[in-house]
Amino acid sequence: MRILVTGGAGFIGSHLIDRLMKEQHEVICLDNFYTGTKSNISKWIGNPNFESIRHDITEPIRLEVDRIYHLACPASPVHYQYNPIKTTKVSFLGTSNMLGLAKRIKARFLLASTSEVYGDPDVHPQPEEYHGNVNTIGIRSCYDEGKRIAETLSFDYHRQHGVEIRVARIFNTYGPRMLENDGRVVSNFIAQSLQGKPLTVYGEGSQTRSFCYVSDLVDGLMKLMDGDHTGPINLGNPEEYTILQLAQKIRDKMNPGQEIIFKPLPQDDPKQRKPDITKAKTLLGWDPKISLENGLTETIAEFTQRLKV
Ligand code: NAD
Ligand code: UDP
Repeated sequence: MRILVTGGAGFIGSHLIDRLMKEQHEVICLDNFYTGTKSNISKWIGNPNFESIRHDITEPIRLEVDRIYHLACPASPVHYQYNPIKTTKVSFLGTSNMLGLAKRIKARFLLASTSEVYGDPDVHPQPEEYHGNVNTIGIRSCYDEGKRIAETLSFDYHRQHGVEIRVARIFNTYGPRMLENDGRVVSNFIAQSLQGKPLTVYGEGSQTRSFCYVSDLVDGLMKLMDGDHTGPINLGNPEEYTILQLAQKIRDKMNPGQEIIFKPLPQDDPKQRKPDITKAKTLLGWDPKISLENGLTETIAEFTQRLKV
């Protein structure tokens, strides 16, 4: 099959491309390299089944493909808040352009949505039926509301034009190739430990997150794309940790004597987050396999290798 991956030079996109290439698909990576890097896809350059196009998805593009994995969008708060108007445009105009393309060429379209559509949830864990608790005017809104309108657009293209859609609500994902400076918690704690700096916990560290290893997530995305269910379907690892527990875990693995310091909690930071993955289990036969312990070991090894160069 010929498959387009928008945001393919990014963290999740490049792992997805690795899997698709190994399965002998023809893959087109579309990326403007805002947070993606050429090194993430360099091993496929020159392969006749692979093509990389530098393009900003807020502009339309004409291509012929069978499937579209739509991942392009900055995902970490530091990057999506750098130019919040652009973030909203990427989510709305970018998704509109990609759905228009899917409609024209009759391609199946998968949207990488997010647990952020649940905002600061008052239902725990979060099932897909929960409609969320999102601030429309806060500093996270460009991303959260952007993904919500992207979901709305996807379902309206499905109902109005018959586009085959799949919507994944991705929960916090980590692994090799995360940018060391993207401000996300796993990459921050690992980079800080490597640099001998104190680990920065925001607030008291009592807020919770559930961390999914990237290979599990990619597996879930592919099962969703290949299956018969539109979704939305939660994809994440339901093992829940407080941020302080995560800091202690990474410190103990990397640098047991390292100090943990506390910094102010950012505005609208969700207090708890854990996916209900009943649907993914029953409808897709998907279940995350990699424990946080093993996933962190892999991630730390790759960061150590990359950051020493
Ligand atoms: P990432 O920042 O590593 O990847 C995003 C990619 O999109 C980058 O390669 C970037 O250069 C590209 N991009 C950004 N704006 C673009 C534009 N206008 N035109 C073309 N390309 C553009 O992030 P990621 O963690 O790999 O996330 C991928 C997708 O998964 C995103 O849509 C994100 O919202 C979603 N997601 C990720 C997580 C997570 O924990 N990583 C959680 C929920 C949802
Ligand atoms: N966080 C932290 N220290 C850091 C970076 C993040 O305590 O150095 C916290 C952040 O406030 C949030 C959690 O870790 O409560 C997860 O943050 P991240 O940006 O990784 O993801 P998101 O908030 O989007 O779930």
